[in-house]
Amino acid sequence: MIPSKTPMDEAKRAQIRDELYRDIATRQVSYREKALRILPHICANCAREFEGKRLRELTVHHKDHNHHNNPPDGSNWELLCLYCHDHEHEKTLIGGHYEGARAKKDTLAPSIFSQFSALDSLLPPETATPDTPQPPESK
Ligand SMILES: [Zn+2]
Ligand SMILES: [Zn+2]
Repeated sequence: MIPSKTPMDEAKRAQIRDELYRDIATRQVSYREKALRILPHICANCAREFEGKRLRELTVHHKDHNHHNNPPDGSNWELLCLYCHDHEHEKTLIGGHYEGARAKKDTLAPSIFSQFSALDSLLPPETATPDTPQPPESK
């Protein structure tokens, strides 16, 4: 017979959790090592070369921004120096906002916009209800 709940359960669960975290950490380290093994130690953006201790400044960028997508052939990896890596993510962040805003504008007919702005001007702010109709989200 097995006791349903003992202090051992907690310890065991903590151990499993630890192993899981370690596993994830190992996997993250290993994709970096793998990428450094198969890709030239050059920043894909500014073409600076990295070796020895400075290799730490070279980071693995995921082209599709999915850190779990690590094909062994390295097709989703790009080596970028810290500087360019930061820049790359800033660029896509701004780009994403930009494209998102534009897509929204394009999918909404101008008449919907004017309808809503007309509605806004008709409603004094204090009568605005929390469930004010929202323009449909673009997908
Ligand atoms: Zn660079
Ligand atoms: Zn990245």
